[in-house]
Amino acid sequence: MRLLLLFGVLIGATCSLKTFVGDQVLRVEPHNEEQVRLLKELEALEPLQLDFWRFPSYPNEPADVQVPFDCLQVVKVFLESHQIKYYILIEDIQAIVDEETRNMDYNQQRERGSSSFNYGAYHSLDIIYKAMDDIVAEHPQLVSKIQIGESYEKQPLNVLKFSTGGTNRPAIWIDAGIHAREWVTQATALWTAEKIASDYSHDPLVTSLLNTMDVFLMVVANPDGYVFSQTKNRMWRKTRSRIPGSTCIGVDPNRNWDAGFGGPGSSDNPCSDSYSGPSPFSEVEVRSIADFIKSHGNFKAFISIHSYSQLLMYPYGYKCTNARDYKELEEVANAAANSLSSLYGTKYRVGDICHVIYQASGGSIDWTYDYGIKYSFAFELRDTGRYGFLLPANQIIPTAQETWLGLKTILEHVQDHPY
Ligand SMILES: [Zn+2]
Repeated sequence: MRLLLLFGVLIGATCSLKTFVGDQVLRVEPHNEEQVRLLKELEALEPLQLDFWRFPSYPNEPADVQVPFDCLQVVKVFLESHQIKYYILIEDIQAIVDEETRNMDYNQQRERGSSSFNYGAYHSLDIIYKAMDDIVAEHPQLVSKIQIGESYEKQPLNVLKFSTGGTNRPAIWIDAGIHAREWVTQATALWTAEKIASDYSHDPLVTSLLNTMDVFLMVVANPDGYVFSQTKNRMWRKTRSRIPGSTCIGVDPNRNWDAGFGGPGSSDNPCSDSYSGPSPFSEVEVRSIADFIKSHGNFKAFISIHSYSQLLMYPYGYKCTNARDYKELEEVANAAANSLSSLYGTKYRVGDICHVIYQASGGSIDWTYDYGIKYSFAFELRDTGRYGFLLPANQIIPTAQETWLGLKTILEHVQDHPY
């Protein structure tokens, strides 16, 4: 009986939601190459279980690292002994997670008694998929749902198609949530879906765009990871595939594309959060998008939405040389960042991935660019680290509204510059 009780306690500990009581996020500011190297070494020390929310990159570029409560002292001593500056960005992660959970529960209760959907809240996968179906049902002439595949755990990979007709018109791709924990992105994409649907025939740009082009919007690009981030571990980033020969699970789906696969800024360690996977396109979620893009054959823009850091980036990430079209991409990105900022003053940095964040191999927009989709961009939405991935729900709608202005600037340029 006592053994059974003990077993019960163990199951409770391993099967329940991961908690982050006393865990902190430190902002670390390396000032030279040596300090960057030390941080990368620290990252590789598995027993510390550090989770870099923002990876170390260049001198004077901050890195954000989540440190488990038990390791705080040793990490701080390490930083201080190497004169690496840091300060506490988040004092107690669990306190923010608890607040987020309370808001979700509150909103879901409220929604049961209401007919209008609350876009200013974080929702489960089921509720998001139901909301996507509702958008289709409300705008049957404009919006349809396409299933481009099935996730590793057999969730449908759903994409909303906005089209006024024609066959295989030039098209724009937008995805969100390829990294599971970046919750403001899935929420922003859902708001955007409703915005596009309701603005058609009211907003001149949306109307003229959809009269000649199609838009494909994937609200949850990594559904398994999203469900896991809501039910087991709020900080989950990767897919949920099993890796032969490893007890660690999942691949970084933005290191899994066949663009400089396995190069700098990705890891071959299955336990790493930037694990590139056993081979390019090993992840069914990534392969399904790439296959869809290839079979369609007429995409002119590919926009992938991440958080956080407030960046608007274009290729390349796997190498640090300029893309052929970098001048035009830079111009468009600057214009988009200006439109975005016009609403609430939110400031974005613009540039190619390698220079704006770090060299990162196997990313989606590098693959789409090399495949021939000139207008390939990646957004990193709010904020710059105050809450990081735990952006409070009351910032969802302002984030979505401002992002939409940036997106519209890109879409307008794409429409005006056919190639
Ligand atoms: Zn991301």
